[in-house]
Amino acid sequence: HHTVPPSRAELVVDAEAIRHNVALLAETARRSGAATMAVVKADGYGHGALTAANAALAGGATWLGVRSQAEALQLRAGGVTADILCWLHEPEEDFTEAVRQRVTLSAATPATLRAVIAAARRTGTPAAVHLKIDTGLSRNGASREDWPRLVAEAAEASHAGHVAVGAVWSHLACADEPGHPSIDAQAARLDEAYRVACAAGLRPMRHLANSAATLTRPDLHFDLVRPGIACYGLNPVPGHTSAPLRPAMTLRSTVVLVKRISAGEGVSYGLTWAAERDTTLALVPVGYADGVPRLLSGRMSVWLAGARRPIAGRICMDQFVVDCGDDTVEPGDPVVLFGPGDHGEPTATDWADAIGTIDYEIVTGMHRPRGRRVV
Ligand code: PLP
Repeated sequence: HHTVPPSRAELVVDAEAIRHNVALLAETARRSGAATMAVVKADGYGHGALTAANAALAGGATWLGVRSQAEALQLRAGGVTADILCWLHEPEEDFTEAVRQRVTLSAATPATLRAVIAAARRTGTPAAVHLKIDTGLSRNGASREDWPRLVAEAAEASHAGHVAVGAVWSHLACADEPGHPSIDAQAARLDEAYRVACAAGLRPMRHLANSAATLTRPDLHFDLVRPGIACYGLNPVPGHTSAPLRPAMTLRSTVVLVKRISAGEGVSYGLTWAAERDTTLALVPVGYADGVPRLLSGRMSVWLAGARRPIAGRICMDQFVVDCGDDTVEPGDPVVLFGPGDHGEPTATDWADAIGTIDYEIVTGMHRPRGRRVV
């Protein structure tokens, strides 16, 4: 094992902002009697899973949500004792360690449920299970047809003391488009699934709401909300200004070289950009190998020496060039590529808008800045 020397791409995570955002979300949930599960999968949406988890718990979350058993066990290894739900599994996965360490497992199929029961038998501990129904996203989750059988098997295992069915749950397709008819349709299907579970003698919680529904649909909070993106301060509903969220991630670097070029000279591969007049260029040692999308070439600026300044020409693998005009810039000057936006710098959302994606993809793409990577 060795660590690659740190590059000058520096990812700064504001844990206090995550705590603040989760406190807002948890207060919103509490008003409708719901608890809060902060979603910290994908390495805490790129912010660091353990950092995000601890900040979220400090902000009042009582649950953490992750994709996999491995992610859940990493949190346990980091000292997290709170409830954790994980919801995507490998075929034939062995859940022994998750059950031993009190990780709640989502089950969407009888096969998963049986694997969980087997782990519970091996450990001699009842396994905590949340049963997942597909209410319209058509991803994972039991179909309506398969639901009664899944519930019946879970009820039987519950009576036998192998599992404790803590919840029935589902995930929304269009929560970021308030008023979309699918939202109520999915809620109605969850309700139907819940009644099937109750009729089988189970007394589960219900949960459905992601960030967007947490902020716009208090009537769908049920017992637990599952915000992800809003915990990191990014607005889940474009154009909807809701809670005063604070973006938690900043990507910074430092100018390594400054040079003057003459009018007409081109910059970077393909010479796609040329100086219209004599100008000063600053070289920033960060590129698409650090997760800066090459598509931002010609479409984005950075915050440098007190102003927004355009990226000149193509973003390269390890560096890009900034046009600074006649202003004074020096090697060592800090550069903010994106941040909360309150000092004039672009935001992760600006980056996403510029290249036709969502800010989720920008921040999760920063999960291994080059300076932190271990090989
Ligand atoms: N619940 C589930 C099942 C998810 O997969 C996700 C994220 O993808 C979330 C909740 C959180 O969603 P958001 O980040 O939009 O709040």
